[in-house]
Amino acid sequence: MANYWLLLSASGTGKYAGHTGYADEVASTYQWDETVAHATSVAVGDVVLIRDGEGLLGISVIDSISEWHDYKLTLRCPVCNTPKLTFRTRKVPRYRCTRPSCRSEFEEPVTGTPIVRKFASEHGAGWLPLPGLMDRAELQKLCVARLSIQSMRPLVPERVEHALGGFVEQMFRLHGGKVQDTALRRSARVRTAPAEERQRLLDRFGSTCLFVGTSPRATLDAAALSRFDAAGESKSKDFALLRRDVRSLLDLGQLTVEPECDRIVVRGEARDFRPYIELDGAPLQLPLSSGQREWFGQHWRLHSV
Ligand SMILES: [Zn+2]
Repeated sequence: MANYWLLLSASGTGKYAGHTGYADEVASTYQWDETVAHATSVAVGDVVLIRDGEGLLGISVIDSISEWHDYKLTLRCPVCNTPKLTFRTRKVPRYRCTRPSCRSEFEEPVTGTPIVRKFASEHGAGWLPLPGLMDRAELQKLCVARLSIQSMRPLVPERVEHALGGFVEQMFRLHGGKVQDTALRRSARVRTAPAEERQRLLDRFGSTCLFVGTSPRATLDAAALSRFDAAGESKSKDFALLRRDVRSLLDLGQLTVEPECDRIVVRGEARDFRPYIELDGAPLQLPLSSGQREWFGQHWRLHSV
């Protein structure tokens, strides 16, 4: 079950207009570290509502979370060592400790740079910008704990869906379409297979390019025809020997294989050159495995639009 989160974009407080590139950043990634409440509860598939100090900026769903270690600058009270300080722009001394038993005021906090786990979400595919749709008070009503001041706050899914209704669905539709498109594009790329795979193909089929037949060994690449599912996981890998020019033209979509009949179709600039014109309509040199056929089917779908 996906969780819903309200995330405060730190860089958004009050300087939204002046920070170029900031809107793009909010639309694709959110960063936090392990010292934040709920740091390790946020997960792939969770719905995020991102806000700044004023109100909602947009909604999305998390596709991945990366994790690394980094230094974090910390500021502490020189008297009681708490990190809970307020910074005052108009008063001196500029810092005040918020601990009720301390309340010290000082100009220079104690600084430290401990190493912390940091996290960054990737949520660009589903991003639906909704700036100004809900203000701070309206967003607060969607939270599990309404009076919390945490930067990552759990939301009540039913309240979000009630308040945003169609927008949540719209975001998921947008996301689904983009993710499928990305999976198709990733799948339809020809990658280089490991050297031992090339040797295995040469032993099995001789120096035969799947498209043009017998060719000098030095011109033959072993291609990995990998398929990925929508989550970006590798579903399967098939291999084929391809002459280098064939491989390049496949990547450009100038060579494709028509499904059903397994015949070569030549498009684009390749049609200006006799050797490739002669390939148009020709059968492949070897029968396709079912995995290879599925890969060429995806490749065809991507390049025949
Ligand atoms: Zn203190």
